[in-house]
Amino acid sequence: MRSNPADYRLVAPASLQAVVSLLAAEPGAWLPIAGGTDVMVQYAAGKLPARKLVSIWNLSELRGIEILPDEIRIGAGCTYTDLREHETVQREFSLLARAAAWTGGIANQNRGTLGGNIVNASPAADSLPALLAHEADLILVSVRGERRLPYTYFHTGYKKTKLAPDELIRTICIPRKFSAYFAYAHKVGARNAQAISKVCIAALGRRGGGVIEDIRIALGSVAPVPLRLIETERLLLGKPVDRPLLALAKKTAIAELRPIDDIRSTARYRSAVVGNLVTDFLQKLGSSEL
Ligand SMILES: Cc1cc2nc3c(=O)[nH]c(=O)nc-3n(C[C@H](O)[C@H](O)[C@H](O)COP(=O)(O)OP(=O)(O)OC[C@H]3O[C@@H](n4cnc5c(N)ncnc54)[C@H](O)[C@@H]3O)c2cc1C
Repeated sequence: MRSNPADYRLVAPASLQAVVSLLAAEPGAWLPIAGGTDVMVQYAAGKLPARKLVSIWNLSELRGIEILPDEIRIGAGCTYTDLREHETVQREFSLLARAAAWTGGIANQNRGTLGGNIVNASPAADSLPALLAHEADLILVSVRGERRLPYTYFHTGYKKTKLAPDELIRTICIPRKFSAYFAYAHKVGARNAQAISKVCIAALGRRGGGVIEDIRIALGSVAPVPLRLIETERLLLGKPVDRPLLALAKKTAIAELRPIDDIRSTARYRSAVVGNLVTDFLQKLGSSEL
């Protein structure tokens, strides 16, 4: 059923403190709205889980990108445009810059935020494999203070997260230690723009002495949550990239997936595509100059 605007309330407190106080006063009653690109779709479909909306779009505390010696700190309210235009993100975090550039269209990139992509928790979200591969941490904030959580533990099941009802994501922290790794990202959709991924991959690797010294492979749209290929990574470590290894990696990667048939694709197609993408990544890593 369509939503009636008169049934909803929207407030826009001027500070982060005021927002978290509101969330704490009535846990679960207020739904934060950042860019609104997911929330407004739910609103239009009459599927919003709350009648009270609190805007966090104008909070300066959630904006800005800070470069520290060991990590980059991205405000959860940064948009895709902020990310894809940022010089350090482009240079050191190309997986994230590329995901930002292929998320929706330009209008969507001007409004959609990284924090919104994380909390919306779609298995098909484009920026999340990059965060997994880069071993990002989240800083969550509430009236109780701040806590830092490795992003890898954030999604606990389909559309389920570790975020408490009175918490916001404040910052996404990404270590700079993988900056010199070979980076590989690919989105497979029905077309190049304005398509939700059938499969997306973000991967990082480093070779040395003719073998794979370090590797991380993360995928979207192939499981209820963004997925890191832990078993595949384990078998690749310390090995030279050769034909038998490529065949074994492909088989192991496919065995790690939990894909489904849905409106965008089939489980069979998704598995086949992942096998090909992992092979392509490893072949390129094998011939990289690193
Ligand atoms: C036309 C269109 C195309 C799209 N294409 C893509 C695409 O290609 N790839 C893709 O991944 N996504 C796509 N999306 C989805 C969407 O744009 C992204 O998920 C976006 O990042 C959501 O951010 P937002 O700020 O708009 O979130 P909102 O809609 O404002 O919020 C989404 C959810 O996150 C919560 N939230 C937001 N910020 C915070 C925070 N800091 N702390 C706690 N909770 C928070 C909200 O309460 C809500 O539950 C598309 C959407 C549309 C409408």
